[in-house]
Amino acid sequence: MSSSPSPWLYENFEHTGSAFGLRITRKLDEVQSPFQKIEIYESTDWGNVMLIDGAMMVTTRDNFFYHEMMAHAPLFTHPAPKNVVIIGGGDCGTLREVLKHAGVVTAVQCDIDEQVTVMAEKYFPELCESNKDPRATVMFDDGIAYMANAAPESIDVIIVDSTDPVGPAEGLFNRAFYESCLKALRPDGLLVQQSESPLALMHLIQDMRGAMRDAGFKTFRTLPFPQPCYPTGYWSGTIASKTARDLTDFRAADAAAKTFRTTYYNAAIHRAALAMPEFMQAALND
Ligand code: SAM
Repeated sequence: MSSSPSPWLYENFEHTGSAFGLRITRKLDEVQSPFQKIEIYESTDWGNVMLIDGAMMVTTRDNFFYHEMMAHAPLFTHPAPKNVVIIGGGDCGTLREVLKHAGVVTAVQCDIDEQVTVMAEKYFPELCESNKDPRATVMFDDGIAYMANAAPESIDVIIVDSTDPVGPAEGLFNRAFYESCLKALRPDGLLVQQSESPLALMHLIQDMRGAMRDAGFKTFRTLPFPQPCYPTGYWSGTIASKTARDLTDFRAADAAAKTFRTTYYNAAIHRAALAMPEFMQAALND
């Protein structure tokens, strides 16, 4: 037994008056990129931990909730996704999940900060195991510019796997960006964006969906899921459709018959995430 107790790493969520802590053994690395500060710690029970500008992004132990829901829920909602673009996602976990879909022909990951992926390859190699898939393109640019320059009607699903709407990610949560997404999507295209905690930031979800609607998206669905290391531990992804289709209708049979392994996502979990808690029903009219 060590003489002194292991230190703890806490992230205080000022906007919710709460915090999340992990017992750690040591700090493994740190880099200040032109965009953000990236830190890596080793924990006693949750594997490695990545923080960006002090906010927990990924732990070895619990990232599967987020990466699986952000990939499989929209992909099994789309009728036949072939061309997928991930904005952000520098830890590469969402890319790995997207590439599990055999029907996906191309998957582009556009993160503004190469250092995130450099650190992920070193400390989360399991998340980067599909980066060399011939269908994958891992590139580094501002997602705002990428989407503004994307060819019209060239993408089936856009996944915005970004940091919180501050700093470089702020411009990924507004009407102008959503208008770029709408233009780049094919007629039956879907946009999904990590939409923070319904428990702590419902007004942000309402604002996001309002801006998506103003940009021309027709129907919306916010799917809650657990994500222990994020503020309140209760997270969400919001799906928006270019056509006025029912987003509670998904390829349930395909999801149930999936041949790839997941840790959280399955058809029943997808259906359960479509059941709206009362407070979300009242706020979002889903
Ligand atoms: N799962 C995390 C969450 O929900 O907060 C997101 C993880 S992922 C590491 C977030 C990524 O968004 C970071 O790698 C960051 O560099 C990227 N990012 C932020 N702003 C961006 C922008 N304008 N264009 C592309 N990527 C951006």
